[in-house]
Amino acid sequence: MKTALVTGGSRGIGRAVAIRLAAMGYHVLINFVSNENAARETLEAIGGQGELLRFDVGDPEAVHAAIAEWQAAHPEDYIEVLVNNAGIRRDNLMVFMEKEEWASVIDTNLGSFYHVTKEVLQPMVLHKYGRIVNVASLSGIKGLPGQVNYSAAKGGLIAATKALAQEVARKKVTVNAVAPGFITTDMTDGLDEAALKKDIPAARFGRPEEVAAAVAFLASQDASYITGECISVNGGLYT
Ligand code: NAP
Repeated sequence: MKTALVTGGSRGIGRAVAIRLAAMGYHVLINFVSNENAARETLEAIGGQGELLRFDVGDPEAVHAAIAEWQAAHPEDYIEVLVNNAGIRRDNLMVFMEKEEWASVIDTNLGSFYHVTKEVLQPMVLHKYGRIVNVASLSGIKGLPGQVNYSAAKGGLIAATKALAQEVARKKVTVNAVAPGFITTDMTDGLDEAALKKDIPAARFGRPEEVAAAVAFLASQDASYITGECISVNGGLYT
């Protein structure tokens, strides 16, 4: 059984990624934290070719318990594709930013990279094959006002991608990132699309499927000589 884990697979970009990976033949572990109905909809969308795995990516004990339990139940299998996608934003100007807004965004978007990747990396290295794709953001490249917390987390994620890529390249494990711009999901619900799209050369927000296509490529065997890379998926909205 070829297995992939998509954190935050219940909605948005994660759901689109789960659908692409299932089409590539993967049994998809659909992680979510609270929205079980949405996670079930993802599972339905992939024709039941996977299972739900509930845990908070920012909680190391919960991450360990869920993945260790799955691994114990499937001793013959290993997670060969990991998509670190789960994320949140808590935007605020720095002068008003509460400690909780800083900490929760760092824990969920960057701490999660450590917690989840630690659990799956060794089996990838032992099997001499693995794909890790981290969902970063334009914010992590450019920095966006009102998102000092989120920009720090995503910038850290891109740097961690590059560092880990060099550690495990010899073991045929690749580590890459995608950096979406504005994508239509629950996360961008409420943003003024009409105003924002004036600055986007493609003159529109992107779709989750357009990010998932880049993730699927990086997760495929075709991308075997690409590692430590960050692909922007942003309609031309560069710095
Ligand atoms: P979304 O629609 O809000 O979905 C977020 C997903 O993350 C949900 O599946 C949610 O699970 C899960 N999640 C949140 N906190 C979690 C936690 N602590 N533990 C486990 N799962 C958790 O967001 P999206 O737009 O698809 O974003 C996906 C990724 O793309 C994020 O990393 C985001 O930062 C990044 N991104 C998005 C955009 C954009 O414009 N949308 C742009 C750049 C980067 P539940 O359903 O259980 O809540």
